[in-house]
Amino acid sequence: MGLISRESIEEVRRANDVVAVIGQYLKLEKRGKDFWACCPFHTEKTASFSVSPGREMFYCFGCKAHGSVIDFVMKFEKLSFPEAVEKLALRAGVNLSYESGGPSRHERSLRDKAFEVMNLAQKYFLHELKRAPAAQKYLHDRGLDGDVAERWGIGYAPDEWSKLTDLLRDRVRDDEAILASGVSRVNDSGRWYDFYRGRVTFPIRDSQGRIVGFGARLLDPNAKAQKYINSPEGPLFSKSKLLYALDRLAASRRLKQDGRALIMEGYTDVIAAHEAGFDNAVAPLGTALTAEQVQLLRRYGSGVTLVLDGDAAGISGAERGLNIVLEAGADATVAVIPGGMDPFDLLRAQGAEAFEREIKSQRDAFDFKLEMVRSRYNLARPAEVTGALEELAAVLARVEDERLRSRYVSYAATALKLRESQVTLAVNEALAELRRRDERAQSRTATDAPPRAKTAAAGPGGARLIYERRLMARLMDLPQTLPAAGELLEPGVLANEGLRELFVALLNSFDEHGSVVPGALYAHLGEAGRMELEETLKLTQAQGAGKPGVPQEAERESLLEELRRLAVGHGESGGRTSLEALRKRKSAGKRAGRRP
Ligand SMILES: [Zn+2]
Repeated sequence: MGLISRESIEEVRRANDVVAVIGQYLKLEKRGKDFWACCPFHTEKTASFSVSPGREMFYCFGCKAHGSVIDFVMKFEKLSFPEAVEKLALRAGVNLSYESGGPSRHERSLRDKAFEVMNLAQKYFLHELKRAPAAQKYLHDRGLDGDVAERWGIGYAPDEWSKLTDLLRDRVRDDEAILASGVSRVNDSGRWYDFYRGRVTFPIRDSQGRIVGFGARLLDPNAKAQKYINSPEGPLFSKSKLLYALDRLAASRRLKQDGRALIMEGYTDVIAAHEAGFDNAVAPLGTALTAEQVQLLRRYGSGVTLVLDGDAAGISGAERGLNIVLEAGADATVAVIPGGMDPFDLLRAQGAEAFEREIKSQRDAFDFKLEMVRSRYNLARPAEVTGALEELAAVLARVEDERLRSRYVSYAATALKLRESQVTLAVNEALAELRRRDERAQSRTATDAPPRAKTAAAGPGGARLIYERRLMARLMDLPQTLPAAGELLEPGVLANEGLRELFVALLNSFDEHGSVVPGALYAHLGEAGRMELEETLKLTQAQGAGKPGVPQEAERESLLEELRRLAVGHGESGGRTSLEALRKRKSAGKRAGRRP
């Protein structure tokens, strides 16, 4: 979003009377010239929170919180500054003006229209669910029917080519907004179609409760499409900046009580948690956690608890999330759900108390990270100690909070039986490497960029690039592997924009057509993606009809294993396989047991 003009901000502030607005949130009592209430920002029994109509501000004599009406809305609703201004502008009917660089009038009206499309689509999905016994049974079997479905707006997109699209084009008459919403698409031959077909739908809302996208689960478990899909990125939907159930966090009682948000993996985990009273649960949108999402949560003034499935996939997928929260310097803990269950299973099978026990046995996130690293390396061998140290240093170098970093350094030294100075040295080296990389990236954008292919081959990322291209080539040769690959690997992990584009295009292509035809990919790729596609195609031809004698199933397994390793950041380096380490971890976890 762009900058709201100074005049607009002032206009919004003046149009929203501080007493009237705060009076909507708190019961204010008039004493003298001012109004008083118990402070919403700290716990107290006698009112020390004052609102002064004369000074057009609020002030708390207890915690010293103070500010304008905009500050109050920001603080109370956990909104960013522009969000709070927009909310108040809406309340007072003020038309905002933006400085240049902000969204144009056209962009804003496009967004407004797209919101309208979303609401219509949601109505349609709710309506269709009523007429879809198979979808109802699917939800019933999972305890997601009835009131639960209603509370969460769960719907159903029937397996029709363009029923919703036709309806939208008839009603909204704004093709650009319909496309921007992501619920409809146009294929290469110009035909419009519904993006969600044969899927149960979960509306995804922004922090203000507006529907900005949908997550959708395939009903037919045998169909050859990706199990879960989300709205494509667009003017409303940016999955790295949203979280499922974020709109409910501001009102969360548990968040106030525990000071923590629970980060889970799936929508159904979050729903089950909320229904059981854990109203502080959120989930990333079908992909790994991002740094932006952690920042978003920190706005709620909370620590985070990663809730992990105890199975191998849970743990390996978790390590990325773990690195993200550590790097963000968040007050982070980890709770592991045992017995190969996810939070949804556990809550369904054993109820809230069993879940509460697992949450109570949460551990410090860095401690957990240390244990994972230790399980992967044989620390009796000096060479492997070096490997473990480098891996930890790479994470620590990204921790910006220096006090936190030095505390972690001392933990790490103890865990690896090294001197603190040795760990510090490794961290400093990793930091220097990070800076070099940043500078290179900057100089690359600052000066005329050299041809990409050349940079790729010559640069330090060369080996990694070639390795990742080879993986893409293998995926193209074994397209049935794509749905599983999509679940394992977050595109953001890949070395460059082109590979990321290509990977997403491959996933979408298989999702939509059940096959991958290189020619059809071009339309969905930008320049960088096209270049990577060409490089990758050279490799598919080079790899040719593949390796005779290697059965497809084995090739598929080995490919998935490599992707899994790439996902946890061990790409081409080889070394001990993460699966082996995971098995070790799993059994170690079992041995350690868990006392209720
Ligand atoms: Zn206060």
